[in-house]
Amino acid sequence: MPIYVLVDLQEVDLKIDEMLKRLLIANRAYGNRDGLDKRQKQLELVQSKVHSERASHQDSELIVDGTRTKIAEVETKLYGGTVRDHRELQDLDKELTFLKRDVEIQELEALELLDGLEKTQELLSKLTKILQKDSVNWTLTQERLAAEKERLTTALSKLRNHRDIVAGEIARPALTLYERLRPPKGGRPVSKVERGMCTTCNVSVPTLLEHKVKQGRQDLTCNNCGRILSG
Ligand SMILES: [Zn+2]
Repeated sequence: MPIYVLVDLQEVDLKIDEMLKRLLIANRAYGNRDGLDKRQKQLELVQSKVHSERASHQDSELIVDGTRTKIAEVETKLYGGTVRDHRELQDLDKELTFLKRDVEIQELEALELLDGLEKTQELLSKLTKILQKDSVNWTLTQERLAAEKERLTTALSKLRNHRDIVAGEIARPALTLYERLRPPKGGRPVSKVERGMCTTCNVSVPTLLEHKVKQGRQDLTCNNCGRILSG
């Protein structure tokens, strides 16, 4: 059976911290549809743009049709031989000129609207494809995250059991000191002594202090950085 010391406990705790961090990240990402919802909303906006542009284009086609009908009517009157009055024929001719000018403008407008509609439809089909791809990726990511969460939870539970065993080997005063120093020392309250120096702050440790540490004391701290010294 191994004899565990504070350095071992620190190692286990650092692993636990790391796993908790990863679990937190996985938990935050799991079920998060923000990106997907944003794209869906974007798609819906473009969909409604397509609807309104299609309606505008249909209206413009109706206007063109109406003018063309009027042109046909005027032409029938003008060239049909039923109207013989010179003044009336002149007015009809003038009206026909105006109508032909109008229909040209209206046709151009209808073409422009069609052009815009086609562009928006293209954008819609592009966005639809992207959303489909994103949805597939999202599902895959969710599956990966679920597996990751499960793996981390199992590993954490094993590590916590191991921690209990490690902590059980360490004397109460050293353990209390360790717990107290853990938060202010960023999760690393223990520092090894090597070649007469604290390996964290690189300041030399008095010989007597080092001697006691090497003998197995676990409640002595570095004079400089305040970490518990370990042999
Ligand atoms: Zn130190």
